[in-house]
Amino acid sequence: MMQPAAPAPEKALKTAPSAAGAAGKPASKAQAKSPAQKALEKLGLRRDIDLALHLPLRYEDETRIVRLADARDGEVVQFEGQVMHSEISIRSRRQLLVTVDDGSDTCVLRFLNFYPSHQKTLSLGAQVRVRGEIRGGFLGREMMHPHFKLAGGELPGALTPVYPTSAGLPQVYLRKAVLSGLARADLRETIPAPFLSRNMPLRLSSLRDALQFLHHPTPDVALETLEDRSHPAWQRLKAEELLAQQLSQLQARRVRAAMRAPALAGSVLRGAQHPCLHAQLLEGLPFRLTAAQQRVGQEIEADLKKSIPMHRLLQGDVGAGKTVVAALSAARCIDAGWQCALMAPTEILAEQHFRKLLSWLEPLGIKTAWLTGSQKTKERREMLALIESGEARLVIGTHAIIQDKVKFNNLALAIIDEQHRFGVAQRLALRSKMTDDGQEPHLLMMTATPIPRTLAMSYYADLDVSTLDELPPGRTPIVTKVVNDARRDEVVARIQAQIVEGRQIYWVCPLIEESESIDLVNATQTHQALSEALPDVLVGLLHSRMPVAEKKAVMSLFVDGVMAVLVSTTVIEVGVDVPNASLMVIEHAERFGLSQLHQLRGRVGRGAAASACVLLYSTGDAPRLGEVARARLKAMIETNDGFEIARRDLDIRGPGEFLGARQSGAALLRFADLQTDAALLAWAREVAPLMLDQYPDMAHRHVLRWLGGKAEFLKA
Ligand code: ADP
Ligand code: MG
Repeated sequence: MMQPAAPAPEKALKTAPSAAGAAGKPASKAQAKSPAQKALEKLGLRRDIDLALHLPLRYEDETRIVRLADARDGEVVQFEGQVMHSEISIRSRRQLLVTVDDGSDTCVLRFLNFYPSHQKTLSLGAQVRVRGEIRGGFLGREMMHPHFKLAGGELPGALTPVYPTSAGLPQVYLRKAVLSGLARADLRETIPAPFLSRNMPLRLSSLRDALQFLHHPTPDVALETLEDRSHPAWQRLKAEELLAQQLSQLQARRVRAAMRAPALAGSVLRGAQHPCLHAQLLEGLPFRLTAAQQRVGQEIEADLKKSIPMHRLLQGDVGAGKTVVAALSAARCIDAGWQCALMAPTEILAEQHFRKLLSWLEPLGIKTAWLTGSQKTKERREMLALIESGEARLVIGTHAIIQDKVKFNNLALAIIDEQHRFGVAQRLALRSKMTDDGQEPHLLMMTATPIPRTLAMSYYADLDVSTLDELPPGRTPIVTKVVNDARRDEVVARIQAQIVEGRQIYWVCPLIEESESIDLVNATQTHQALSEALPDVLVGLLHSRMPVAEKKAVMSLFVDGVMAVLVSTTVIEVGVDVPNASLMVIEHAERFGLSQLHQLRGRVGRGAAASACVLLYSTGDAPRLGEVARARLKAMIETNDGFEIARRDLDIRGPGEFLGARQSGAALLRFADLQTDAALLAWAREVAPLMLDQYPDMAHRHVLRWLGGKAEFLKA
């Protein structure tokens, strides 16, 4: 973790750091950005306030000089002493060894990379100040690549911050940039004083004091309170951050409430004497809706009737039957005389939706268009024309839907499947496809990676959530087994038995021909091995680097039941629906995340037959699996319930990651933790609406300070 001392640190200090937009630089120079400036911007550190809010990861204590004799092994310490010996050794490799004596003990400084300047400063007899991690070594106590300079000079009065950084951005440069950002930033309070004390469990310092302290804490601070972020200064920062998040969500909600969307009710499509499309579709389904599907359908219907754009997340475990809910919602939209778009993250999934919805809607006289990147130009042109003329009432596709060329006739409902797979910008783009000025389409997002309900409700002030908490009847629970990779042969025998019963099998591999992971048995090899072991049946291979046409061909062989075994990478993770598949083998299961494992497992257990999931694991060279991997596999054995899985995933990963941009598009919380900071969150939820009403200007400045230009994204 230590910064290597070479090249001489003073060099780096000479490049005067200055944040983008910082005053005091001649314009001609400001035009050419240094790599370090670019690195700053890459970290999102553009404004002075961004720099001021860039808080240390940890601290180094340069405030004290210790006696070597008092230093314990493994401790990072600073001492002063005299250079007694210096040599360039070539024992195992060329290195500089310098022995320093502080009167209580000696320490060998070891440098594998060094410059003449090292030898100069560390010359025989010199008095030096050294800081590094002390270890018991072959030659006695030693430090590897310590920091050093000539002894004497003032000791700093505060701990030295160590900031999160990236390649190309030296710590010294970043420190100076943060320091000047902190000095220049506008740190006036944006939280009205009465709110700061309102039901607040902690006394909070001012923002300025809190930031000063966190960047340069006094040496007497209890370090644990900085590490676990329980220190009042940290509380203040977290309260600020949570408030900004709540405010921006509330603002977005109010903005949305002021927007117009077409109220989708009734049927203009068929005339009053005919049953509407929705009713016909429902009638023709080969199954009855579950109670949960009916309830969720009503929630959506109620939203669509309003002239405020819907912003609803439909979450339901894998296999809960979200597609039919989407189709019925589309039918309501079409009934009302408007167009609907359904976007899916992969071509396989989009095509599957297309086929299914086509089979339901085409017999009812509804034209559906299909859009994808791999389409032939001619077909694509035809589709674009159908969409623009309005002849196509429903448009299904991948990201291709949001391209500029696509012009809708009258889009009113946008449905996004597996929404967590899309970026915020893509969701925004889909919403902007509404052709009427001043109107927004209704938005229905679907996900099988559920957000625990309490989290969703408290965090997403601007999202309504519908939950399918019931699976369609007649599903036999999937039995999950964890099997050591050494017993692969038994698994193959099991596959054979399933094939005899007429069943189909998925075999999932984590990666394909990734050079950096040579030890992974890749999908190609597994495919070959299985083809040899099962000579009488068709074993297919599907991976993301195959041409699309080939992918489709393989997939349709599997869907049609011609192919018995499908070996694939995680391309099948989302949404694929082949009810006859009853066995899923996941190779190197220890490398997958918990939600991903659950998603994969959800590909089986879709028919009435008993289904199983075999998680093959390998410990590599280690005697056993790591703790996190074990916790994941254990959770997989113990529960089939997506919500319970989500809860455990939360325990294992922590909510910060859980609510990452992938999940929500909302800014990631950098400092606060929704579980440990529940009290602060409660405070922020209470204060945010009051503040928006009573102090709108401060609220605006607060959001701007914390979220800057990102606020727009929070609307998606
Ligand atoms: P997901 O929620 O994972 O997207 P799907 O919509 O793909 O799930 O549905 C999974 C399977 O369940 C499909 O084969 C679908 O036709 C079927 N299904 C959906 N709803 C019902 C229901 N009410 N009764 C029986 N089967 C249903
Ligand atoms: Mg689905």
